[in-house]
Amino acid sequence: MGAMDREWYHEGRDARMKAVQRSPSGRIPRWALDDALGTPSTPPSRRGAPTYERAPAYERAPAGRRNASGRKRKRRFGTVAGLILIAALYATPSLFDRFVLPVALPYLPGADVPPRGVEAHGVPLGTPPPAPSSTAFTLMDSPVEEQEWVAYDPCRPVHYVVRPDNAPAGSEGLIQEAVAAVSAATGLQFVDDGTTTEAPSEERDLYQPELYGKTWVPVLITWTSPEEIPGLAGDIAGLGGSDYAQAPGQPLVYVGGQVQLDAPDAAISLGYPDGRAYLRATIMHELAHVVGLDHVDDPDELMYTENVGQASFGEGDLAGLALLGAGPCAPGL
Ligand SMILES: [Zn+2]
Repeated sequence: MGAMDREWYHEGRDARMKAVQRSPSGRIPRWALDDALGTPSTPPSRRGAPTYERAPAYERAPAGRRNASGRKRKRRFGTVAGLILIAALYATPSLFDRFVLPVALPYLPGADVPPRGVEAHGVPLGTPPPAPSSTAFTLMDSPVEEQEWVAYDPCRPVHYVVRPDNAPAGSEGLIQEAVAAVSAATGLQFVDDGTTTEAPSEERDLYQPELYGKTWVPVLITWTSPEEIPGLAGDIAGLGGSDYAQAPGQPLVYVGGQVQLDAPDAAISLGYPDGRAYLRATIMHELAHVVGLDHVDDPDELMYTENVGQASFGEGDLAGLALLGAGPCAPGL
């Protein structure tokens, strides 16, 4: 069962990083921070504006997928509030930059961030189950010093879409099963938004209103290949991670994660008797990266860097996932 012995997990743009070190630096989307005005050289802290990540846009729009209830009202309110603030503080540029732009940006023409608070609730939509006392887990590094770790906003659903192209025969249902396992362990409420044509990318635009409506992009799960994603070359079966965004004065939260699965590898794995369990575990591992778990040097955990036969989350994985399901809410985003 040679295919099972290989190193099957990896995060990072460059497979060579994995060869020399198995550190958190290998995680996937470490995409350059940019700010919402498109002036990449301005440090976010200088202006206090939100930091958003951006990249090229996509075309087709299956649109209307998002439940838009309440959004229009919120948006109109936001526009009015933004305009009033602009009028009031127009003459004080520093205040304008610090307080008005972050609020008004989503509502300005051509905005590259969504309106604030789409689907945000006042309380978490779910709660993680009682966690094992294990400490055998590692959280992804936070990109900012002020915040120790980053999680998805538990006060709003985590939408996900699947690009079905290249899905190997026999893989039906595995993504949904893996998502259910992560949802159960975190309490995060995942919503299946169906299929997409969006391709995996290291420079994914986190706001694609033509494709997904006026909200942050969903988690994108793709069956792909080393030809499309060079990071999957060699014995790498999957990549997983999330981007993040931040509203002024609010915690950094994950948005727009990706899971990239090596479809040719997966097809081979499915040829083995335990192929489905193996592949489901791979997807669970990558989704755990998406919600913020890093590797741990313990073969009893699913977040171990290699597949050694673990098919479900270990105690440490579950402890970490429970913590990640109880992150702060960020209604201002
Ligand atoms: Zn991994």
